[in-house]
Amino acid sequence: MDYERQPYRRCGRSGLLLPAVSLGLWHNFGEAKPLESQRAILHKALDLGITHFDIADRYGPPIGAAETAFGQLFPRSLRDEAVVTTKGSNPMWDGPYGKGNSRKHLLATLDRSLARLGLDYVDVFYLHRDDEETPLEEQVATLDHMVRTGRVLYVGVSNFSPERTAEAARLLRGLGTPLLVHQPSYSLLNRGIEDALLGVLEQEGMGCVVYSPLAQGLLTDRYLNGIPADSRAAEGRFLTPDRVTPQVLTFVRALADLASARGQTVAQLALAWALRDPRITSVLVGASSPEQLEANVAAVDRLDFTDDELATIERAAKE
Ligand code: NDP
Repeated sequence: MDYERQPYRRCGRSGLLLPAVSLGLWHNFGEAKPLESQRAILHKALDLGITHFDIADRYGPPIGAAETAFGQLFPRSLRDEAVVTTKGSNPMWDGPYGKGNSRKHLLATLDRSLARLGLDYVDVFYLHRDDEETPLEEQVATLDHMVRTGRVLYVGVSNFSPERTAEAARLLRGLGTPLLVHQPSYSLLNRGIEDALLGVLEQEGMGCVVYSPLAQGLLTDRYLNGIPADSRAAEGRFLTPDRVTPQVLTFVRALADLASARGQTVAQLALAWALRDPRITSVLVGASSPEQLEANVAAVDRLDFTDDELATIERAAKE
């Protein structure tokens, strides 16, 4: 691992440092992709000083396959040099205990994740989403129990509202287990967290690890000349071709001009932009090749923005 390649940023007011650019295994890991390509991406990540790998029980396809692939490919000797995270809440198996944030489901899905990963513990366990039908007290008590039984080092929430995040943090503080981190979506095309969530996270001393900072590839040069056959939009499962609108393309072209003046690609500019706010601990990128990942990590070579550059981005976003 090259620990000089990128900065490590503190996750809120905790002791945990995370790389500015982290790798997510939502896509490109599982049985639909050749194992060798998964190995190449993972090894490239380790070379680039990416110490933080984000997974979830459901990632695949099929369900669970991303964890199984990570378990197969991750070198055991590096366990203490890596932060491995997983999540629970989404539907995993049939019946009333197969989904949601009940203690019954969460403890079972975590144990299945640990078995697939081949690990004794994960570094962070996230509630993947809020579950309004399960008392928040039960949800957070389950997180606390996971930490106390050694299955999990830190806990987080993902896709929670600002209000419920503050409430979960308060309840967990009462139990003696800090709420380490929130994992929201954030990019130049999705700026909702700027309204209230970031303020709550700062106040609570929580980190913010953002997902889809490239808007699943829209904020790159991938779609400037049509929809490539091997792209996520062509696959059409989570990013549908109708999201590649003329308005998005106009915005990306404007970003491309600014990026080139900064000596960056659009993707690098988009990642640097997300990291401009010190409250953002890390951007979780996906990559369908080692080359994409290497290019994305190079975003850290130019993280500063002038006021003029930021104003240009704001103008382009409004057009
Ligand atoms: P991104 O926004 O980084 O999108 C990644 C995709 O963009 C790649 O798979 C690739 O698509 C394309 N891409 C990446 N780099 C480049 C580049 N340099 N040039 C051109 N195209 C590029 O993130 P994801 O949407 O993949 O999400 C990242 C992680 O966030 C996930 O793996 C997961 O861990 C987490 N996540 C969490 C969620 C939650 O609810 N908590 C929800 C969603 C994600 P292509 O295949 O077309 O090459």
